Amino acid sequence: MALAAIPLRCRCGRVQGEVGTRGTYARATCYCNDCRAYAQWLGVPGLLDAAGGVDVVAMAPSQLRFTAGVDQVACMSWSERGIHRWYAACCRTPLGNTPRDPSVHYVGLSTACMEGAGAAVDTAFGPPRRCLVSTASATGPVRKRPLGTLWGILRVAFGLVGARLRGRRASPFLDASGHPIRTPEIVRR
Ligand SMILES: [Zn+2]
Ligand SMILES: [Zn+2]
Repeated sequence: MALAAIPLRCRCGRVQGEVGTRGTYARATCYCNDCRAYAQWLGVPGLLDAAGGVDVVAMAPSQLRFTAGVDQVACMSWSERGIHRWYAACCRTPLGNTPRDPSVHYVGLSTACMEGAGAAVDTAFGPPRRCLVSTASATGPVRKRPLGTLWGILRVAFGLVGARLRGRRASPFLDASGHPIRTPEIVRR
């Protein structure tokens, strides 16, 4: 049976929380240059697969809750218009990526902050590498998954429309007025 919530924990344990499993859009691997550069900027080993992709669970941010270490939650972006990339400043564990537009109810949650849950992650969110994004910029061979990718993208699109229709806004990365809880650090590369 799938757990109703998966524990979230940065590698050093200062940032903790839980991830509800009912607001999942799709699990995806992103091979884009920005995600890869971000993993390299964080400098933590093990974030990239053999072809330079990162594993995320696209989901509703209202499913995410921090229970400890919120003061360590930091944000960067590659540009003034780029997406917000959240991480645990204590040990540079990636947490999740969110759009700049707070009305888009989306977080691409990094599975790196759910490692402690082990196989429960696959049970809750599905196996990895079924929905593959930006494979053109992969750094190694990837087995293309056109149907899994299309299905994942559709699930994200339906999830976002559904969240908008239901007026969902809550996110631990936003304050009550919809502003990010940290000013993103703009990092040039
Ligand atoms: Zn930490
Ligand atoms: Zn990406």
